Amino acid sequence: MKSEVDIVVDKRKLSLIRNILLRIFLLSIGIVFIIAIITYLNVYSNETEKKLEQLKTYVFDRVRYDSEIFTLAEDNLKVFENEFLKLYLSDIEVTKDEFWTYYFVDEQGATRMKPEYYEGVYTDDGNYLYGLSSFIGNNQKLDNPDLQRRIVLSNRVLSKLGAAWVNRFANVHVAFPENVLSIYYPEEPWGLNARADLPMNELGVIKAVNKGENPERKSIWSGLYYDETAEKWMITYMDPVDYGERHLITPGHDLYLTDLIEQLLEYNSDGSYSFIIRKDGYLVAHPSDPSDEQKWVGQLSLDKIQIPLVKDAYKLISEEFGENTSQVKVIKTKIHDSYLVVGEIEGPEWLYVRVLPVGTIREAAHGAAKRVLIEGMIVLFAILTIVYYVIKYQAEKPLSQLSYAAEKIGRGEYKEIAEARMNLPIGLQNEIGMLARRFVEMATNIKDSKENLERIVEERTNALEKANADLMEMSLLDGLTSIHNRRSLDRSMARIFMDAEEGLGTFTVMMIDIDFFKNYNDSYGHAEGDRALKDIAKAIKETIREEDRVFRYGGEEFAVIFNHTDANLSKEIGQRILEKIQNLSIIHEKSTYGILTISGGMQEYTKSFLSPDEVIKAADQKLYAAKNKGRNCLVV
Ligand code: GH3
Ligand code: MG
Ligand code: MG
Repeated sequence: MKSEVDIVVDKRKLSLIRNILLRIFLLSIGIVFIIAIITYLNVYSNETEKKLEQLKTYVFDRVRYDSEIFTLAEDNLKVFENEFLKLYLSDIEVTKDEFWTYYFVDEQGATRMKPEYYEGVYTDDGNYLYGLSSFIGNNQKLDNPDLQRRIVLSNRVLSKLGAAWVNRFANVHVAFPENVLSIYYPEEPWGLNARADLPMNELGVIKAVNKGENPERKSIWSGLYYDETAEKWMITYMDPVDYGERHLITPGHDLYLTDLIEQLLEYNSDGSYSFIIRKDGYLVAHPSDPSDEQKWVGQLSLDKIQIPLVKDAYKLISEEFGENTSQVKVIKTKIHDSYLVVGEIEGPEWLYVRVLPVGTIREAAHGAAKRVLIEGMIVLFAILTIVYYVIKYQAEKPLSQLSYAAEKIGRGEYKEIAEARMNLPIGLQNEIGMLARRFVEMATNIKDSKENLERIVEERTNALEKANADLMEMSLLDGLTSIHNRRSLDRSMARIFMDAEEGLGTFTVMMIDIDFFKNYNDSYGHAEGDRALKDIAKAIKETIREEDRVFRYGGEEFAVIFNHTDANLSKEIGQRILEKIQNLSIIHEKSTYGILTISGGMQEYTKSFLSPDEVIKAADQKLYAAKNKGRNCLVV
């Protein structure tokens, strides 16, 4: 019984904690997941926005900064053009002799500026010249005075402006429609080193500014190239100067772009990178694939390259930007899952493109969400542990105490609970505490009711016992005379006979019968007869001793038991009874004696008697003998 109760209670306790923990776990894990998803989405959109804003600012600053040198180059060459035209359109003359003070013809027939103008020389007018060199190809005729004048005047402008400009630029140079180039370039005496038969005016960017190739007379930015002598990335800018229909000179700047390019080719720690394309569909610089060590720098038609993102970007940018490339724009390429932040570097019409792979933002969002998940899980497990212990001590333990108490009440052992001798959580200020207090109240009520019931039962039992005793007493008395009746005689006889048999004492029985009583009734009425019976019974009772007892044997017959009495004393008391009745002097005219008298037969107990009846019978026989003797006498 006990173990069964325990098993049931244990299962309930277990499932209570398990259920609560499971519910909290499932609910919380749901919440944690939702928070993680929200975090992911938040971080994703915030990061995207933040990153793009940063990159836009960066690209904006970057292109403005990088544009500076290009616009400066353009401004410089405008100054050069003005200075030159001022001289050219003046009436300054340049004689053949003056020309040859600067130039000489080398062994291969090329005309070159004398080396002292590169190395450093004071002129007649007190100027110090250096860094200058100039080359006229050996195929170029010099019989044209205008050409000589343009060369000398250009050199003057070069020597005047060059020194101020070369701290930002590699050099300043002047090309001519003819095969001539003058250059202010303190790092290298280019004009002295150039191959004698070099066809300057047939080459690249110089040819591109000539009237045939450039009828709109645009200034031209060359492609990027690597100057191996200087070990630097360079780009050339040239601006043709015409007068009327004539192309006079083409001043130009070589720009060092090493810093710009090196910055460009670096990968950023945030996973973003940059490349530069030209608006007319050339790749200028690209760090290439992250896995690829090769970095592209130079100038390559986009048709020839194998970098899909660049091709795709060029297409998208052309569509999005149109002609207006002055603002920084963000374009998303879905195919490559990246953002492109695009700004234009003014001058060479380069588009600076910063690529932000969406994956890097996604990674950051993933990281944040993962952190939330892990931290959430840790918090969740901490909470579950706390809840486990709280339930264990706040609910499970009190509940098991209550269930033990319930079990005790079930077994009827409620006193311990009612008297607060058992550990119950009655102090708890919650439902369990309330339940515990109700338990104690219940046990107290049961205890009180039971005690009350027991008291009532005891009272009733006592009353019943008394009633039983009374009843018993009543059943042993004679209703008329109030002395003991025949039943009482039988019981007394049985007891006293047994005692006598065991030698615990002896006794004598005397049988009494009223004489001529039928006649008395007949003469004085039955009521008088009853009264006489009562008087005689009373008289006998008064005559015998304490330890003796009188019984109504039946009708008008009585029996007396003399206890522990020897024969003589019994006989004497017997005689006294007869005398007492005589002394009552109840008139009975039809009696021989005139009054009511009695006859008696007395029998003492002896071992020869085998039953009480035999003793009574013997006494009765003696009574019979007394009657025969004439009545009013005692036969012993
Ligand atoms: P004997 O001297 O031979 O004893 O003669 P007797 O008339 O006394 O004897 P009998 O046995 O013939 O009569 C007994 C009478 O006792 C009969 C009855 O009327 C009377 N009697 C018996 N019981 C009662 C009683 O309770 N009340 C009254 N009034 N009379 C009783
Ligand atoms: Mg009789
Ligand atoms: Mg009689």
